[in-house]
Formats: sequence, C-alpha cells, structure tokens
Amino acid sequence: MKITFLGTAAATSYPLMFCRCEICEKARKTGGRDFRKRSSLLINQNLLIDLGPDIMSASFMLGISIANVRYCLQTHPHSDHFDASHFGTRTPEYAVENIPTLDLYASTATLNKMSEMLRGDGCANDLMDPKEQERLKLNVHPIKALQSFKAGEYQISAFSTNHDKSVESLLYSITEDDFTVFYGTDTDIIPEETWQGFHDKKRKFDIVILDHTYGPKIDGAGHLNANQFAEHIQRMRDENLLGKSGRVFATHISHEGNPVHSDLVKYAKKHGYDVAYDGLVI
Ligand SMILES: [Zn+2]
Ligand SMILES: [Zn+2]
Ligand SMILES: [Zn+2]
Repeated sequence: MKITFLGTAAATSYPLMFCRCEICEKARKTGGRDFRKRSSLLINQNLLIDLGPDIMSASFMLGISIANVRYCLQTHPHSDHFDASHFGTRTPEYAVENIPTLDLYASTATLNKMSEMLRGDGCANDLMDPKEQERLKLNVHPIKALQSFKAGEYQISAFSTNHDKSVESLLYSITEDDFTVFYGTDTDIIPEETWQGFHDKKRKFDIVILDHTYGPKIDGAGHLNANQFAEHIQRMRDENLLGKSGRVFATHISHEGNPVHSDLVKYAKKHGYDVAYDGLVI
C-alpha cells in the first residue's frame, strides 16, 4: 500500500492566512514542510479520503492525477474536507470527458449536507437521486458507523466519532492485502463504541493517522490536542491495536500550540509518534 499525504493542516491551513502569531511568522520563513494544505489522503492511486479544497494544488505539486481516483471515502462535509464547487466540475456543464465512475462512501447525513452545498453552488440537487448520480458519474453508498464493506481491492470499516454528530462524521480503517491503515481525523476523544468496534473487527493497525489539531496546552472542542493524541496511541498500544512495527502519524495540524515542523518532530519523537507533512509518502 502506498499512502500519500495530500494535505496535513486543519481548516486554518498552516500558517493561517492572516495570522501573525510567532508560529505562523516562523512557518512563513522556513516554508517547505511548514506549508500545510488542508487535510486529505491518497491510497495508492485510486482511493481518496476527502474531496478537500486543496487536492488539486497538491496533485499539481506531487505530479499525481486525481482522474485516477475510483473510490472516495468522505469523513464529513466540513468545508476543509469537501469543496462543492470543485466537485461540481464533474457535471457535463463543464465539458468533462470520458470520466470514470466514482464510488463515493459517506454517512447519510454527510451526503445530505454535501447535496445542500452542491445546491448552493448550483452544481447538483441531490446526491441520493439516481438521475443526479448518473449525471455526476457517481455510485453513492450511504454507510453507517461500524459498517464494513469492500471497495475494489480494499476492505474498509467505518467508525463513529463525536467530531460533528449532526453530519455523522466517520473515521475509516482501510485494509489491502494484510496491511491496515486507520485514518482518524477529524475526531474528539474516540468514543467507546469505536474502541469496541476495533476489537470486534479484530483490527491491528500498521499505520495510524490521527487528529493532532492542537498543541499540548490548548483545549479545543471537536478535536484532539497533543496530550490527548499521546493518550490515544498509548491506549492503542496497551490494547494491542497497533502492530509490532506499527507507526503513528499526526495530521490535521493547526498553528494553535503546534510549533513548526522541525520542533514538532522533536516533541513527537519523545512521545513515540511521527508527524506527517504534505507530500509524505509511506
Ligand atoms: Zn477538518
Ligand atoms: Zn498563527
Ligand atoms: Zn471537521
């Protein structure tokens, strides 16, 4: 399995557009791994997690074609994870040619919100309508937490999170052959039913990618801070959910309490994890 981080920032990007805090100013000077686009992940060439607003910029920088994507797992429809106007360019009005059908997986509440956002942009009315799906060349699959399903060569399970209950936001584990990755953003403290689900489904993760929106001193709702992140990976190790050579990566990083990449890497090393950056390939 080849995993490519297309973006590793929270909704704010990193540095934050108008912010002149010490961290953002430093990031502007160092550039490189300190320029983070909004979070999205590509698995091999054909499975995308989140149709985020920065995926095309990432694809230009990394020489990747998004046209190869056949499967999309949508965690939730927040605008740092779903860009309706960009997605709407799948419609014939944009003279799009010869596009492959895309299998789109998301919770029903997320699909409804995505439809509302597409309506707002005048691109489409209802993703659940088979006629609209035909027009957008989509197979839409509403899924629920704790549901397991197959998408092409991948075995996937969805897990609940309390990040935004109004849109039933989901986390995913993806298995190809014997290799499993867990994509855990956006999330607050992972709910017990999800921990139970990991065990019931006998998950052992080779790679864990987890929400690290805030630094250790910041308490932000709906996301994890660095302390909570460390507690989560410790629990994964204690409960034998992480493979022996399993690795853990922080993503969805904001400027609030997260220092520039080189400093965050040093901090993370002390706590037994790695920090993802845009363009990182595993
Ligand atoms: Zn987000
Ligand atoms: Zn800042
Ligand atoms: Zn979110």
